[in-house]
Amino acid sequence: MSRPQPRAVHLFEVVSPPDHSHGGASPRHLVWFWLWLACLALPSTLVATDSDHCAACGEVTFGKVYLVTDAVTAEKVSVCTICEAIYPNCFLCGLPAKTNAPGFVRLPDGRSICARDAKTAILGEDDSLRICSEVRDGLDRLLWRFMAFPETNVTLAIVDRVHLQDLFKFAGNDYHCPNVWGYTQSSTNQGRIVHRVSVLSGLLPSWFKATCAHEYTHTWVHQHISSHRKETLGRDAEEGFCELVSYLLMDAEHDEAEKEMILRNA
Ligand SMILES: [Zn+2]
Ligand SMILES: [Zn+2]
Repeated sequence: MSRPQPRAVHLFEVVSPPDHSHGGASPRHLVWFWLWLACLALPSTLVATDSDHCAACGEVTFGKVYLVTDAVTAEKVSVCTICEAIYPNCFLCGLPAKTNAPGFVRLPDGRSICARDAKTAILGEDDSLRICSEVRDGLDRLLWRFMAFPETNVTLAIVDRVHLQDLFKFAGNDYHCPNVWGYTQSSTNQGRIVHRVSVLSGLLPSWFKATCAHEYTHTWVHQHISSHRKETLGRDAEEGFCELVSYLLMDAEHDEAEKEMILRNA
């Protein structure tokens, strides 16, 4: 499974200031014109919408704004040029993260998390390990008729981005999953298979759960499917299967947003 880069600047638009330099119409006509215009414009100018404000700093935007897709809500929002220029991108939503806002978080590996997403991101290792173990229990309950997930031969680690990238770089094990948020290494030692699951720290709960479910499914595949069968199956089929199991768990938890995200990445 490969997750999209959350940052996505699609386009920017320039809203020009009104041009008052036209001549030709008489002052009396202009008065009527402006009265009509004011009547037409009144409802929309009185009701300020979110698109009038920068999603990063909350200030009213003037002139050029960037339209950016918020990777957490999947909505297109406006970002002012100042925020776009001076703030680092939140690694979760992809929007500029206001570094002086109360609640802003900078992780030791350099990732920034905006104040909004820091409220829900899983930042503690204990919480991460507990949630991952709940995911495993949830998979057991959901799929016990069909799948028995490895348990005693699986170790779990919550890693930062630097560590995760190192794992990708120096993979020398039987199999590894190139999920940018998680990594599963399975190796065989004297006939015994052992699995090491690594999941990225700082994710939102639903992203974290889906990643845990995806990686646990890799351990099941490696434990129960022969290497010959895996070769004929192909990497894409295995990744698709892991996404399917992850989707089923999110479905059981009624996590509609995460289900949509899995479908978007399919
Ligand atoms: Zn701004
Ligand atoms: Zn954010």
